[in-house]
Amino acid sequence: MTPRDLREPTLISIVIPVFNEEASVDTLIPRLFSLFGREGLTADVIFVDDGSKDATWDKLVAWSTRYPALTLVSLSRNFGKEVAIAAGLDMAEGDAVILMDGDLQHPPEVIPSFLARWREGYDIAYGVRRTREQDGAFRRAMSRAFYRVFNSVSNTPITPDAGDFRLMDRKVVDAIRRMRERARFMKGIYSWVGFKSTAVEFDVAERQGGKSSFSSGRLFALAFDGILSFSTAPLRVAMYTGAAIAFAALALGGFYLVRTLLLGIDVPGYASIIVSVLALSGFSMLQLGLMGLYLGRIYEEVKARPLYLVREVVGKKGAEGISGADTNVTRLKNLV
Ligand code: UDP
Ligand code: MG
Repeated sequence: MTPRDLREPTLISIVIPVFNEEASVDTLIPRLFSLFGREGLTADVIFVDDGSKDATWDKLVAWSTRYPALTLVSLSRNFGKEVAIAAGLDMAEGDAVILMDGDLQHPPEVIPSFLARWREGYDIAYGVRRTREQDGAFRRAMSRAFYRVFNSVSNTPITPDAGDFRLMDRKVVDAIRRMRERARFMKGIYSWVGFKSTAVEFDVAERQGGKSSFSSGRLFALAFDGILSFSTAPLRVAMYTGAAIAFAALALGGFYLVRTLLLGIDVPGYASIIVSVLALSGFSMLQLGLMGLYLGRIYEEVKARPLYLVREVVGKKGAEGISGADTNVTRLKNLV
């Protein structure tokens, strides 16, 4: 690994999506800036307010008068964490971009270790939770099962326990910004872009007030979405099962034909008919439903709506007059 040549002044951007985090912004912001002071870092901090309903935005705006390095983006409604991250990456101009949660579960004190790995030459340094003990046995078993299933059906293997807390070099950020898909399964996206990456262990802190937006139900939906986004294996499963059933039906037909020729007709086969009709129609419906899932995704993508809409930008970039959905359009043009 060749160490990164950083003679030029470098800019670090921190991107933080927040949704109803009024309980933590007043702790997070001073903690971040005092860390920058201690480490002698020049960093931009971009908060993306994902349609919070509480005082998050007002608190952020109040801090922005004190810290000019703050850029605040307010989305027009709640678009979900993945899209809020996309909005933040579109805004970030740093040579390296660090993503972190706004609830202080991702301790800012890990940032220097991320930067150290980046200087060594790695393009991505991702945070890995040292333990998942806080999660409970059921959650852990489910997540292990998910990683196993995902990695067996997808061509893009993902690293267990690596989440959104990470540093990415400019070229990684630009690669991710080119992926404008609506179904944004971030773990898959991170792994799809590739590049040289390394793990940095950290301890997840307790949430600083407020509550998690990710219930077990939402996590399950996310897992399912991820598999649909990064694998067409379910479609193949349907095909193979269909072929197996058809083959079995043919064999059974042959068997009945031979038996009828040799022994004549015995009791009419009501049971076998009803069973095979039910099994086959059930299977066709399952298969249709599966195709519908992929079709629905194609529909979502071909509509080509903007990923998100910006309501307001406060801070440096706001002063430059970037606002509204045009932001995405002009920035996208710069990409291609
Ligand atoms: N978040 C967001 N939009 C959402 C849900 C969450 O921007 O629709 C933010 C949230 O404010 C936090 C981060 O994403 O900064 C992680 O969310 P959360 O803590 O709820 O998830 P968990 O830590 O339980 O996985
Ligand atoms: Mg959290």
